[in-house]
Amino acid sequence: MGEHVIPLADLRYAASVPQVPATAPPPSGLLVDRLGRPLRDLRISVTDRCNFRCTYCMPKDVFDARYQFLPHGSLLSFEEITRVARLFVAHGVHKLRLTGGEPLLRKHVEDLVRMLAALRTGDGAPLDITLTTNGSLLARKAQALKDAGLRRVTVSLDSLDDAVFRRMNDVDFPVAEVLRGIETALAVGLAPVKINMVVKRGTNDHEIVPLARHVREHFGPGVVLRFIEYMDVGASNGWRMDEVLPSARVLEAVDRVFPLRPLQPNADGETAERWAYADGGGEIGVISSVTRAFCRDCNRARLSTEGKLFLCLFANRGHDLRALLRGSRDGGACSDEEIAAAIGLIWRERDDRYSELRAPQAAAEPAADAADAAGTRRVEMHYIGG
Ligand code: SAM
Ligand code: SF4
Ligand code: SF4
Repeated sequence: MGEHVIPLADLRYAASVPQVPATAPPPSGLLVDRLGRPLRDLRISVTDRCNFRCTYCMPKDVFDARYQFLPHGSLLSFEEITRVARLFVAHGVHKLRLTGGEPLLRKHVEDLVRMLAALRTGDGAPLDITLTTNGSLLARKAQALKDAGLRRVTVSLDSLDDAVFRRMNDVDFPVAEVLRGIETALAVGLAPVKINMVVKRGTNDHEIVPLARHVREHFGPGVVLRFIEYMDVGASNGWRMDEVLPSARVLEAVDRVFPLRPLQPNADGETAERWAYADGGGEIGVISSVTRAFCRDCNRARLSTEGKLFLCLFANRGHDLRALLRGSRDGGACSDEEIAAAIGLIWRERDDRYSELRAPQAAAEPAADAADAAGTRRVEMHYIGG
């Protein structure tokens, strides 16, 4: 069976212009979807470009010199992003995460942070604004981001071993520079710093305990290390179930060296399960996107670099909010009220739960699933950053 591949570039453009209801109640701050899930978290991709070619995310053979990244004019401007974010906040969003691609590659991204930091929830509270970065430019940018109002930051770091790290980012980038970025983030007061490690069995699973040890000994409790199960992010990363190391195995490995006890989740819809070191040495988290579904609490929406709204990481169709912002639909540009009404309608109809439907099967039949991943994919997906 040959691999059935839909290139990411095609998926990127799969979006329809949202319907604008003729009448709609104004945003009340509590918008729930068909499964009763509120809208709380907006992930905003500010660029589709990246200076890394992590093999599990933007493999070189797809994202090569011929790959067509978005032209500047199709990116949402900072004003457009802020306008959309404000409407999402009116609907109840209180957490914004900037991501990409590599968000620190977007020129003057700190100006966007400043604009978003001025937004307030319905109760007048500031938003929880964070950013996920590969850390390569963090040492240079941390102070400007903090000054602009960024509260905290998540840094992706898959290995402490320089050779493994360079192999995984596939552009020969040294791990020392990312560690310097983390230190700078801590020094300027971005807190807590979270570190995300994507665990790939056979590639970096031997780095779990060394990374946990390093974080405890060098950074202390102000840094939270989170282990992410390697996911299938579309047609390009050659995902195989047998390369997923279930979070339960990660926890066993850490617990053998540094005993753990479970912690209560911080907030509804949090993706990570939290564990504390029994000796008070800080906490770790696991994000079990493959083996343990968390769709029933999923309160996240995603805004792509070109202004498409996706309701699930695995959705293969978006809703073209840029068409409403820029007036490329009949009748010209929309007012705030109209765009808010369109967002309300889209979220109310949401029923996505891809992981939940797939997880029991993935956990129970790894061999069958691996065969499936290597052959025809059942579901194609659109990936716009974590
Ligand atoms: N470039 C930034 C970075 O690497 O942090 C932000 C974008 S990146 C797509 C966001 C997060 O998704 C990172 O923590 C990355 O490790 C994670 N990620 C990417 N591909 C993944 C995969 N196949 N499985 C699990 N996590 C993945
Ligand atoms: Fe770039 Fe982040 Fe993807 Fe790695 S995970 S290729 S750093 S966007
Ligand atoms: Fe949310 Fe979709 Fe992930 Fe489920 S699969 S947790 S609905 S993003």
